[in-house]
Amino acid sequence: MGHAELPLHDRAPAHATATALDAYWMPFTPNREFKAEPRMVVRAEGVHYWSDRGERLIDAASGLFCCAAGHGRAEIAGAVGRQLADLDFIAPFLRGHPGSFEFARRLARLTPGDLDRIFFVNSGSEAIDTAMKIALAYHRARGQGERTMFVSRERAYHGVNFGGTSLSGLVNNRRRFGLALPGVVHMRHTHLTANRLTPGEGAHGVELADDLARFVDLYGAENIAACVVEPIAGSTGCLVPPRGYLARLREICDRHGILLVFDEVITGFGRTGHAFAAQSFGVTPDMITMAKALTNGAQPMGAVAVSERIHDAIVGAAPDGAIELFHGYTYSGHPAACAAGLATLDIFEREGLFERARALSPRFLEAMFALADLPAVALVFQEPRDDRSHAGVGHDHVAFGGQSVDDAVVDYMPVIVQEGAVDAASRRERRPAGPDAGIQVLGEGRLQQTMSPAAAEQQSGHVGGVEQPRGREHRQMLVLGR
Ligand code: PLP
Repeated sequence: MGHAELPLHDRAPAHATATALDAYWMPFTPNREFKAEPRMVVRAEGVHYWSDRGERLIDAASGLFCCAAGHGRAEIAGAVGRQLADLDFIAPFLRGHPGSFEFARRLARLTPGDLDRIFFVNSGSEAIDTAMKIALAYHRARGQGERTMFVSRERAYHGVNFGGTSLSGLVNNRRRFGLALPGVVHMRHTHLTANRLTPGEGAHGVELADDLARFVDLYGAENIAACVVEPIAGSTGCLVPPRGYLARLREICDRHGILLVFDEVITGFGRTGHAFAAQSFGVTPDMITMAKALTNGAQPMGAVAVSERIHDAIVGAAPDGAIELFHGYTYSGHPAACAAGLATLDIFEREGLFERARALSPRFLEAMFALADLPAVALVFQEPRDDRSHAGVGHDHVAFGGQSVDDAVVDYMPVIVQEGAVDAASRRERRPAGPDAGIQVLGEGRLQQTMSPAAAEQQSGHVGGVEQPRGREHRQMLVLGR
């Protein structure tokens, strides 16, 4: 294959000299297409990105749901820099540094119930695998080691390590990798036509939670370790559960000794107007996985918040002086990540950003639903008719969401966003889509990009900060940008 080069453009800044692109194998990206027509982002501040051509884009996806407090926060950069100068690294096994204890203590104040034991990891995927191992260790510690099955859900995304791949309900994330872990079963998803275009929790489908009870009948509760769900499924679109659904899962888990894990890698840190969606829905799980906005995306980090009861059972079962959980990563609780996390929590608190998300919710919801009459957006909201479209991300809703929990919209824009930007983000644009047009990515006032149907078929990804739909049925999509 030839070499991919970053082409020079008339308006390209001086630093964009021809750059060989071959060496970097990009994740979740159609590499050949990207390298033929690279889309480089070189700067970020607040709710904006700048491309290497000097174009300013609204970041309507908070990076990848990461930068809730906006880009370029000097407080975070300063805290990370100071930490690296003072103590760049210390092995997390058998040694400690004050930042990890302080960060855990601060996080524990935000989590619901007694979920105040915090295990640090480096990503959402690691958080999920860690939660699965903690669930297994907990049952073993109590003499119920036969509980090894996990219940997940269709359309779920829980990262890409083997645990998360096994739990995945998105077929493309599984189909090339064999069977992954045995003993994982999937409940039906909750994407119901009857709830379509409903703001907030739909009235239909609470009984889908009874799939968990059916697995109890089928496999025996004594074999099931945990049920893992995203309170609002994110990567599949923005799928708010039916009213009462999560509470019913909680009831069934309680009845049968099954642990309930909420994967809040996207929904954590203000997305639903509270620290966690668990609080917005009033349902407390036994563990919460988190990442992304944990450090405002400035450092790779994830965490699992674990119920004290689970922690104490595992720790208490180990002999004195023994390592209680044989699990951890070289970079668990990395000093720079903890510094970024602490600075991020300071910003969330000082600027009242969770409350701000709650307050902006009605405006945002109105802006989202004002798009529903556009042909392009009708397609975005359209029911998928092609099985393959189930496999991708974001095919039903624009990436910044559009449904609410309580009063708080689940949006993916940075929560520092100003009302004007919400309005700008929802400005309208129409383009005709011919049968071979592929997905037309529209920005304010102009076409940003057209993808071939083949590329659209193969690809799920992000353009201009907004997720693209997959599948033949989705010819058009509204994307933000200016
Ligand atoms: N869980 C959920 C709900 C996610 O949305 C994601 C990523 O988008 C993950 C887990 C995986 O996180 P990471 O990409 O940091 O491994």
